[in-house]
Amino acid sequence: MTTAQAFIIAGQSIAPGTSSDVAFPITTMATGTTSSLAVRVLHGARPGPAVFVSAAIHGDEIIGTAVIQRLAQELRPESLAGTVLLVPVANIFGFITHSRYLPDRRDLNRSFPGSAGGSLAGQLAHIFYREVVARCSLGIDIHSAAIHRYNLPQIRIAAGNRRLVELAMAFGAPVIIESPLRDGSLRDQAQKHGVDMLLMEAGEALRFDRLSIETGVEGVTRVLAHLGMVEADDGLSAVGIPARANRSVWVRSPRGGVMQAVRASGDPVRQGEVLARVAGLFGEDAEELVSPVDGIVIGHATLPVVHQGDALFHIAAIDHPEQVGRQIDSITEAILASEPQGSAQGMLDEDEVV
Ligand SMILES: [Zn+2]
Repeated sequence: MTTAQAFIIAGQSIAPGTSSDVAFPITTMATGTTSSLAVRVLHGARPGPAVFVSAAIHGDEIIGTAVIQRLAQELRPESLAGTVLLVPVANIFGFITHSRYLPDRRDLNRSFPGSAGGSLAGQLAHIFYREVVARCSLGIDIHSAAIHRYNLPQIRIAAGNRRLVELAMAFGAPVIIESPLRDGSLRDQAQKHGVDMLLMEAGEALRFDRLSIETGVEGVTRVLAHLGMVEADDGLSAVGIPARANRSVWVRSPRGGVMQAVRASGDPVRQGEVLARVAGLFGEDAEELVSPVDGIVIGHATLPVVHQGDALFHIAAIDHPEQVGRQIDSITEAILASEPQGSAQGMLDEDEVV
């Protein structure tokens, strides 16, 4: 068995088969406090690729933070081939204020490549890119829906890249969406420099849910197994074949009022099928939202108070939605069945918690 070389990062030398936490200073804040980006490096005993997993690039999209906490417990550098860099919170500023953005009101995921002499977002993008992304051949960046929205666990990849399709299939989330990349996004910048990237979308902002966390932990582990970095684990559930789409549509509310949803994420829908009804304050004059395509609901609003024009459903256009819907059911059941029971804590009364 070949042994890996030490991994040098932030002036530290990390020996093969060990892990270390490193912190990259970002900038000083208005109050004079310094801030830094926390990265855990798991450096495998055997040589192999370097892969990063990042979360909360939008500071309120914290589902990936929970995924990374689980990965930090489960991955063992002594049995790993290659190196895994874990970034539980990329946008440290938005994370503490429960915000998507930074204090300079910029979106970190539109600020790449950034620069050392740039805005706060630019400085953070620059450090994250140089110290983490540029050292890796693959990255998995985990997002959630915005606040008051839920996304079915899904993988988004750049269109027309067979390598990414292969990795996305290995991840095994219920749905894979191929779409063009946005200028200034982490994926756009990574692609320009030959770093493959998978973007996972799952769950709701500022919330944790079991399906999203399990899908993330299992998906990342499956990708690492596909790359030969970890042993394919017996504990992983056998997943079905993810559905693939390259077109999605948003369905907006035809009026302001109160929504009664009929469909939710994961449901198959046919063109013309009712998704929800929005009525006035007394329940009068209900108007129906219908699906404009055959497809699968991949995201929905969870807040029933809606204005005219609010985007309430996100639907991936897919042929044979019922068949795909059954597949999605079996994937989500397999993912949820893999978690050992008994980890749930006893329920506390509200006043015990507060
Ligand atoms: Zn996001």
